[in-house]
Amino acid sequence: MTTLVSYDPSTGEAIGEVDIATAQAVNEAVTQASKAQKAWGALTLEARAAAVTKAYDGLIEQVAALSDLLAKEQGKDRRRANGEVGGAVSMGEYLASEAVAAFKSQPVARGTELQYRPLGVVAVIAPWNYPVMMANNLIVPALIAGNSVILKPSEHTPLIAEVFFGQLAEALPDGVLQVLQGDGDVGRALVSSDVQMVAFTGSKAVGHDIMARSAPTLKRLVMELGGNDPMIVMANANIDNAAYFAVAGSFENAGQMCTSIERIYVDRAVAEAFEQRVVQIARQYKTGPWHQAGVNIGPIINAKQHQTVVSHIADAEAKGATVLLGGSEQTAPYIKPTVLTGMSRDMLIEQQETFGPVVAISRFDTVDEAVARANDSDYGLGAVVFGGAGVEAVAERLEAGMIGINQGQGGGGNAPWVGAKQSGYGYHGSAEGHRQFSQVRVVSR
Ligand code: NAD
Repeated sequence: MTTLVSYDPSTGEAIGEVDIATAQAVNEAVTQASKAQKAWGALTLEARAAAVTKAYDGLIEQVAALSDLLAKEQGKDRRRANGEVGGAVSMGEYLASEAVAAFKSQPVARGTELQYRPLGVVAVIAPWNYPVMMANNLIVPALIAGNSVILKPSEHTPLIAEVFFGQLAEALPDGVLQVLQGDGDVGRALVSSDVQMVAFTGSKAVGHDIMARSAPTLKRLVMELGGNDPMIVMANANIDNAAYFAVAGSFENAGQMCTSIERIYVDRAVAEAFEQRVVQIARQYKTGPWHQAGVNIGPIINAKQHQTVVSHIADAEAKGATVLLGGSEQTAPYIKPTVLTGMSRDMLIEQQETFGPVVAISRFDTVDEAVARANDSDYGLGAVVFGGAGVEAVAERLEAGMIGINQGQGGGGNAPWVGAKQSGYGYHGSAEGHRQFSQVRVVSR
């Protein structure tokens, strides 16, 4: 197979294709990237930032067209696609200037300074759920640090990557940014090649494989992996706010979000009221294709992932969960809003990343029990708690990189996007995050 076909997940229709990189093409791209890096890395930080900013400026007028392509290929609605593409285009300049500041040499003692120098060639391997933003947040700091970059987009969203990052690549010196298309085979070839770093966003299973393949040459790694984010609703929480967040956090991007709310633990004293409100809110969500007005749950990316979501719901039903809305009878490619209660730890939804628009609720009697259930996971990306007095103490006990207290997880401004436990290490954004893409040198005079 030499070409990769991309499908509209709403209709199953082929919408385009790209060439798959051969093993030889991977090696040639790395050689070219390595050569191009020498001149690129020799430029000043400001010169690199100017070139990157100019390349992003070239995309401004195409935000609407690129958003439609993203929506069509990935399935999120037009407004959300516009948020992702428009956000990535404006983040280009912002991240570039933030990265310039991060890579400036710094005095640490009399006669001694820290320098941040390029590593060489960085492979960025990206997922399909936010195919523009996730790649973007790693590519910009990697470039500003003076590295050349090879992007391997997801095989499920090749077209948007080809157009968005292909245009950026054309606006930069030859070989500084390249896009190699293909599935896991191309990803594996790239990881095993002579790149100096792999910046990966994707699943835990693939993260394990990348670590193993990177071991022989001790490649630098950034690992932004999956999550199974819990939410705790305390008895003194504002139930309306908690219910709105529970639904929005579970249904965003059709549940296909690394920080999707996957497990909700609610105090038994307020559980009934909370569940009723959740169902009222969830009923208002509408499934459909990206271009249909009023749709806020798009299709599931492909048949395999749809089957996974259905099987997780069916497993919960078989093990005693009560269906308050939706359920396991679903017609591909959509999952109608689903609300389950009476979840238990032996259910797949509790243990794995479900990645579908499902609100999964358990009732608890004590806060200790809720915290234990919330932390009972290998993952630790985000965690959320809604409550009044005592909420900070509960938040303090949650094992996650991003904690939301009476709001969503993930923060704002230049806060890093960061996981704990097996949700990975290394992160997107912030000065410390940008510096992952550099070699620190201690120079004493
Ligand atoms: P995935 O791990 O299946 O694939 C991600 C990328 O890795 C794709 O480009 C794929 O082709 C490539 N790949 C597959 N096998 C490989 C291998 N052995 N070596 C190298 N590359 C390989 O993930 P996905 O299904 O595309 O994305 C969904 C996952 O990503 C979820 O687990 C989600 O939580 C996670 N995610 C995490 C974040 C975060 O910031 N932590 C953000 C978005 C998505």
